[in-house]
Amino acid sequence: MEKYDLVVRGKIVGEDRVIQGQIGVKDGKIATIQPMEAELHGDKVLDFENAYVFPGTIDVHVHCFSNPKEGFIPTSMSAAAGGITTFLDMPYDLPNPISNVEIFEKKVQQLEQEAVVDICLWGTIAKTGGTEQIIPLAEAGAVAFKMSTFETDAYRFPRIPDPEILKAMQLIEQTGLRAAFHSENDEIIVDMIDEYKQANKVYPKAHNETRPPLTETSAVLKLMEFAYWTGVKLHIVHVSHPRTIDLIQLFKQQGVQVTAETCYPYLLLDVSALDKFGPRAKNNPPLRQPDEVAGLWKHIERGNIDLVSSDHAPWGLEHKEPGNDNIFLSASGMPGVEIMTPLMFDATVAKGKCTPIQFAKIMAQHPAEVFSIPGKGKIAVGYDADFAVIDPEAKWVIDENQFHSNSKLTPFHGKEVQGKIIQTIVRGTTVYDGTDVTVKPGFGKFVAGAAAKQ
Ligand SMILES: [Zn+2]
Repeated sequence: MEKYDLVVRGKIVGEDRVIQGQIGVKDGKIATIQPMEAELHGDKVLDFENAYVFPGTIDVHVHCFSNPKEGFIPTSMSAAAGGITTFLDMPYDLPNPISNVEIFEKKVQQLEQEAVVDICLWGTIAKTGGTEQIIPLAEAGAVAFKMSTFETDAYRFPRIPDPEILKAMQLIEQTGLRAAFHSENDEIIVDMIDEYKQANKVYPKAHNETRPPLTETSAVLKLMEFAYWTGVKLHIVHVSHPRTIDLIQLFKQQGVQVTAETCYPYLLLDVSALDKFGPRAKNNPPLRQPDEVAGLWKHIERGNIDLVSSDHAPWGLEHKEPGNDNIFLSASGMPGVEIMTPLMFDATVAKGKCTPIQFAKIMAQHPAEVFSIPGKGKIAVGYDADFAVIDPEAKWVIDENQFHSNSKLTPFHGKEVQGKIIQTIVRGTTVYDGTDVTVKPGFGKFVAGAAAKQ
């Protein structure tokens, strides 16, 4: 009789069915999936009974280093506690963005010493003249390339001019990787914010009013037309508005390879949160009107949105509080890796809005497929034994002070959630036992992108 390193029992969420069963794990990989009747022997047996064993969440949108006080250790511990087994770290680091191989390789080394879950790394390019780094970064293992049509910071997070976007897309197409964009119309937003500031309209909702939906939809439209002519695989990050998804559907029908994500706050909050929570509810693009949020949910239910991400931005109070009297002075973004998976479970599976299989697709399988991450994203033989175990009946209350991230501020503080992460397993090893992170920094591995040269 074959013996496994680990046997995991529970309600196993496979690619197209859920079974009360057991998974045999060997050398960190799923070796067999069997019904309860089968006799499986393991050095270690974890019986989760009626809890769901999901494929570990893959969060494609995390910013470990936009706040230098954060970094891999707190964010990856927070991710482990949130059921995330792999995340893709964004390239807009302080002080230097990940726009050349030297900086990229340094980040890989740091990751291998500090991570507690597995991590892929995004690459980016300098505002101008940076495209010659695209092929080398792809060969060094970048998972995809992130660019922006909105200027958050001229050096770290620049608006890339159209001629450079075009050159970049042609080169990224050759790598087979995906070109992803923060898509907002810079000129209109900058102009509107100037007008609002001059009129002293700096109340929290002014953040929403100065970024109307067309600032997102018009930016996305341009990028999809560029993708049509270059053939590049395009990904639109943090979609906030249902019309953006309507437009994406149109271009998909024309053969453009475009995928999209939304982030959990766009589904779970609306613009009224800016009045309630002020700068804590400020993100880019902004939270939308309730009917627009309902439109995004329709797209989720129809399967038109490929995946959900956190856009974890680990700001401290010192970055948010300047916005208390003038919303434009607050940093944009909020933390999310620790609460996204349970919050999304609460809003979907627990409410009967999505099946566990649909949930597994938007949280794990599609992220792995969209970004071609080998061996990750589903519970199937040969795949990494990466699991997020959720007790579907357990109720708990979000407490921002308990976050493993240094960013201890969320508009979800005090919210009751149905569905609790009771264990997170990466490559067959428990990284979070429901109470504590159980591995040391350095357990997590760098996962190279699909164009990496070995
Ligand atoms: Zn982001």
